[in-house]
Amino acid sequence: MRRTHPRAGEMDHIDCWVFDLDNTLYCSRKYDLFPEMGVKMGTYIEQFLGISADEAAVLRARFSEDYGTTLRGMMMEHRIPPTEFLDFVHDLDLDQIRPEPALDAAIAALPGRKVVFTNATVKYAIDVMDRLGVGHHFDVVFDVAAADYIPKPQMSAYDQFFRATKVAPKRAIFFEDMARNLAPAAQSGMTTVWVENERLNAGPTPSCDHVHYIAEDLTGWLQAAALAR
Ligand SMILES: [Mg+2]
Repeated sequence: MRRTHPRAGEMDHIDCWVFDLDNTLYCSRKYDLFPEMGVKMGTYIEQFLGISADEAAVLRARFSEDYGTTLRGMMMEHRIPPTEFLDFVHDLDLDQIRPEPALDAAIAALPGRKVVFTNATVKYAIDVMDRLGVGHHFDVVFDVAAADYIPKPQMSAYDQFFRATKVAPKRAIFFEDMARNLAPAAQSGMTTVWVENERLNAGPTPSCDHVHYIAEDLTGWLQAAALAR
C-alpha cells in the first residue's frame, strides 16, 4: 500500500480505468449525497416492513454486513422489487453538483477506456456524471441491475463485470472509496486505488494487501498517472 502518486512506468500496462461512482468520482466532502440516500433507504424499509426508524437502522447495518448492501438484504429476506427500491433511494436533489473541469481534463489525459462500476443505477450515474461534466469519457456504466442485483464486494458482481465489459483485469485499474470493494478487484488481478473519502465515516486507514495505492485526491492522482506514462 502506497500513499503516493504512481511513479514513471507503473501505469504503462494499464489500458482501462475503472471508477466507482459515489464518493469516488465526486468527493463526499463536497457533496454529501450518501447520507441523504441512507435516509431514503431507512424510510423505504420502515414503510415496506411497517417498523420503526431504529429497527430499520439495525436491519440496514446487518444487511450491509451480510449481503454487501441494503438492497441485497431486502431482496433476499423480503423479496422487494429492486427497481422500485433503486428509483426511490436515488431520487435525490442533484442540482447541487457543479462541473469539475480539472477532473474532466485529468480523465481526458488518461490513455485507454474509461468505465464505471457502481452499486447504483445507470440513470443515476449518468445524471451525476453529466452534472460533473465527465460523462462523455465513459463508454460503459455497469450498474447493479447489470450484475443481477448482486453488489460489490461479492465476487460474482466482478465476474459479471469482466464478462460484460470485456475489461481485462490485469490491464485495468480500479478506483473506489470503499476499501472492502477493492479486495475482489485485487484478487482478480486489477491494480487498486483507494480514494480516501471513506475515512471520514469509517475510522482509521485500513491496512490491507488489496489496496495498492491510496489517493488523497482523485484529480491529483490521475494527473500524476497520466504523467507517469
Ligand atoms: Mg462509493
